[in-house]
Amino acid sequence: MRIGAHISIAGGVSKSVGRAKAAGCEAVQIFSGNPRGWKVKPFDPEELKMFHLLCQQEDIRPVIVHAPYLINLSAPDETIYRKSMIAFRNELERADQLGADGFVIHVGHHLGEGKEAGIRKMAESLRESIENIPELKTRILLENTAGEGTSLGHRFEYIAEIMERSGVGEKLYLCFDTCHGYAAGYDIATVRGLDETMEEIDRLIGLDRLRVVHFNDTKFGLSTRRDRHEHIGQGKMGLAGMRRIARYPALQDKTFILETPKDTPESDLRNIALLKSFRLPEKDITEL
Ligand SMILES: [Zn+2]
Ligand SMILES: [Zn+2]
Repeated sequence: MRIGAHISIAGGVSKSVGRAKAAGCEAVQIFSGNPRGWKVKPFDPEELKMFHLLCQQEDIRPVIVHAPYLINLSAPDETIYRKSMIAFRNELERADQLGADGFVIHVGHHLGEGKEAGIRKMAESLRESIENIPELKTRILLENTAGEGTSLGHRFEYIAEIMERSGVGEKLYLCFDTCHGYAAGYDIATVRGLDETMEEIDRLIGLDRLRVVHFNDTKFGLSTRRDRHEHIGQGKMGLAGMRRIARYPALQDKTFILETPKDTPESDLRNIALLKSFRLPEKDITEL
């Protein structure tokens, strides 16, 4: 298990590496640009070089890039849809330039068109975008969502269906967000619920396709479908629940990324230290 957090790129992508290191990260997740805008400036080659160099020097790996929030590959509106498709391809390229291992994108919203239409559109968008691009080092990860509004990504069966229908399923992976899962109704805070959820992911998608865990506690309860992250151990899943997830045998080879609140400059440091304290000693892992 490698542990990291979502880190700010303010001042340039290379600045994120020092921040990650200072917070105790071994891995990092970043946005490649403004997460709430369509426009992006190409990377300054020097900045890119510096990013690669620093990641190597500080042994920060893997690098995960999170897609901007505006991209909706299921958008019924033609303008938004086209913009989303262009941005998706561009973001994927940027993630590849950053040497990212994974590019995380939320499953889209159908915005009233209905689940079936949304799933179909998302699957087609993925096929169209990925089918003909040359082999990328960066893996595309679909992230489960909390199920707010007309989201399609809160049930693993929908994500599985999107992967299957896209025809490029072998190029798609899963990012499992614990806060989103719990809010969507997967009771991963209990022994039984965690087992059942992991079995469900394995049956529908395959645990080998799960590469990244977004390790977040949640402000709101089970099945509330509300997406509000909380500090580890201070939310509804609590310390024991979060520790059990971190120690789940099938998750030991995954990258864990925190997207917990940043109330103070020490917030990441504290949450990362806590997650590290959950980590099993090497010998226990080999015994699992
Ligand atoms: Zn996300
Ligand atoms: Zn997340």
